[in-house]
Amino acid sequence: MPLRLYNSLTRRLDELRPLVPNKVTMYHCGPTVYSSPHIGNFRSFLFADVLRRFIEDQGYQVIQVMNVTDVGHLTNDDLETGEDKMEAASKKTGRTAWDIAKQYENEFHECQRLLHVRLPHHMPRATDFIAQMGVIIDDLLQKGVAYQVDNGDVYFEISKFPQYGKLSGKVIDELEDGARVAVNDKKKDPRDFALWKTDDKHQMQWDAPFRGGLRGFPGWHIECSAMSAHYLGHQIDVHTGGEDNMFPHHECEIAQTEAHTHRQFVSIWMHARHLLVDNKKMSKSLGNFFTVEDVLKKGYSGLELRFALVRGHYRQQLNFTLKGLDEARAAIARVQQCRQRLVRIETGAERKGEADLTAATAAANAKFTATMQEDLNVSEALAVVFDFVGECNRAQPTLASCALALQFFARIEDVLGCFGATPQADATGDAPAELQAMLQKRQDAKKQKDWATADAMRDEIQKAGWKIVDTATGPRLEKA
Ligand SMILES: [Zn+2]
Repeated sequence: MPLRLYNSLTRRLDELRPLVPNKVTMYHCGPTVYSSPHIGNFRSFLFADVLRRFIEDQGYQVIQVMNVTDVGHLTNDDLETGEDKMEAASKKTGRTAWDIAKQYENEFHECQRLLHVRLPHHMPRATDFIAQMGVIIDDLLQKGVAYQVDNGDVYFEISKFPQYGKLSGKVIDELEDGARVAVNDKKKDPRDFALWKTDDKHQMQWDAPFRGGLRGFPGWHIECSAMSAHYLGHQIDVHTGGEDNMFPHHECEIAQTEAHTHRQFVSIWMHARHLLVDNKKMSKSLGNFFTVEDVLKKGYSGLELRFALVRGHYRQQLNFTLKGLDEARAAIARVQQCRQRLVRIETGAERKGEADLTAATAAANAKFTATMQEDLNVSEALAVVFDFVGECNRAQPTLASCALALQFFARIEDVLGCFGATPQADATGDAPAELQAMLQKRQDAKKQKDWATADAMRDEIQKAGWKIVDTATGPRLEKA
């Protein structure tokens, strides 16, 4: 079965068909580093993480880029008015915008670590890509798709890109009627968005990286076009973000990039729904606003928070509660206990049995794959995991079955990353006494030229998931 993902652009499930066979390029809009990341941000980042892990599980090589916005994200995205979020935070705290960016970028990376995120291959900062943004702005100006006004601001001219609105479904007329007209008569059209802005008081400023421009700073949207092109080329396979990024941010990314390259920017656009807390939109005034640190301070682990944030289907609203964290704790413990028992049986600490779980494990693997291949249905996939846990717990499995079941759990962990590492108890140490005895019996049989017994012992050892390695000091057992 192919991997099918819901594409916000085509509004249907589309098969993932990478532009370069077996290699998937992925871009995710990253954090704006002006305050501590909250758990709602991380729902979308963790969705991107699980998506990347599953695509890798399916045998593709993935290159994932996530930007860090440290300039140009205005406090009012819709109208391109308002203050740069970095500058606003600077005013509030009396610290420089550069200082604030550095602090919260570090904090973001720490949260990624705590939440067991597989780090994107590249995490560029917007402020390091001013020159690359300039190349695109220059080209858009030359093509007449963008224009510069008297004070030096540069705007993208929406009417020159008729496909504007194709992602969000907001048609131009609707926008015209619905748009609150900004007090900005510099623009030809209130919907035109900024590529470059000038402001003497702005702390982060650069000489214009395009011909004929004035000193200033970039708008928010242009950074993602520049950084995705730099690392992934002009066309990418999958672009993800939170649902609030779809308009205007992603619509603007499409306009800039496609007007610049005349090629389709992204094959599959994916958007994670918002996180609710206690069934309400998270807000500081309602007292239901949590940063990652807030949750950890309540005594929960990063793994438990990760589970609580990835457990639902990414296209459904997820309601976060503290009770949900308790459920996460119980769910993780259930899987860990099951794995620990399998390890104990495998290592001879607990009696093995006769139950053959080969078919059950194969079925669980197949079901897990199928549910994940159908638009990354994590909630169904978790149901498959817990059914399998039940099956393991009811059985007294053979050694070979234990090995297979543990392989399944290792795969689940590789994809979802929310149950923790395989229990280490004896698993990587010496082989269980039972297997050591078989190895000795094989050596004795070989000495007596009893090849049938020697081969039978070797087969038993292999079935249990171990292999015989010949060394200078004699054979020893290693995990296969
Ligand atoms: Zn972006």
